[in-house]
Amino acid sequence: MTIIDGKKISSDIKNELKTSVAAYRQKVNTVPGLTVIIVGEDPASQVYVRNKAKSCKEIGMNSEVIELPKEISQEQLLSRIEALNKDPEVHGILVQQPLPPHIDEYAITMAISPSKDVDGFHPENVGQMVLGNLDKCFLSCTPYGILELLSRYNIETKGKHCVVVGRSNIVGKPMANLMLQKLEATNSTVTICHSATKNMSELTRQADILIVAIGRGNFITKDMVKPGAVVIDVGMNRIEDASRKSGYRLVGDVDYEPVSRNASAITPVPGGVGPMTIAMLLKNTLQSFMRANSIEAL
Ligand code: NAP
Repeated sequence: MTIIDGKKISSDIKNELKTSVAAYRQKVNTVPGLTVIIVGEDPASQVYVRNKAKSCKEIGMNSEVIELPKEISQEQLLSRIEALNKDPEVHGILVQQPLPPHIDEYAITMAISPSKDVDGFHPENVGQMVLGNLDKCFLSCTPYGILELLSRYNIETKGKHCVVVGRSNIVGKPMANLMLQKLEATNSTVTICHSATKNMSELTRQADILIVAIGRGNFITKDMVKPGAVVIDVGMNRIEDASRKSGYRLVGDVDYEPVSRNASAITPVPGGVGPMTIAMLLKNTLQSFMRANSIEAL
């Protein structure tokens, strides 16, 4: 059984990006820039944003964090985004979610220029992805990271039955769409399960590749997984754990210990899919910079 080490792969990708950023700096005398907007003081969001800024610095990219009060109006937020859309030093714009209830998340997604939407959430990027024009869009970072894991672990996907559990706009739907694209690292037969799916375990047991993103701790049990399947666990769920100083620990959507005994390969939580998301955000930002400066890949 192979443990798919997202921590190592994400670190490899960051090193590759660092080398590219240094080389492009020599070539065009500038570096990619990512701006992250955070509205309000949600502690979890603050940690995510700080990690994103730290990762940018580590690989030599510029990063800016714009902290805005939770009372900011939607119009004021939109005008900040508009200014960033026009700023040539900014190649990626990300607005950290969740946003306060008086702000319409869809309006914010629509306001970010598709050419700087490094989260891959804008309908133009989603549409190009569905059409298979992957060179014309940004891929949603978590599914993109999962593709990298499958590819770097040489996991055969062509003609395999991939079952995706969860249909959110940021994970399940783009993941399922990518797996059915006619590409080297995808080309699977895809089934999508969700909360209204009947007899889900009958479907998950057919999966050669099982990708789970539902946000329910330890939901996928050993009897739901075919022996030899590849299991990708996107879930990040806090459960109480009095033995930890924090009082909790993170578990995935998959019951890791027993399932790992059945699987041929599996991602742990933490250390599997999680670290890949930031790595792919950085990769998208570099891609945006290259498109803006008409730079070919080295
Ligand atoms: P979400 O928006 O809450 O969507 C959850 C999906 O799971 C929905 O499609 C829902 O079905 C489905 N679902 C919920 N309960 C189910 C059940 N009992 N049986 C079958 N389907 C069920 O969640 P998300 O944003 O996709 O995130 C999912 C998990 O991944 C969370 O734990 C999140 O923290 C984690 N996550 C991790 C990363 C990372 O970087 N590692 C990134 C994003 C998310 P319906 O559509 O029918 O409601």
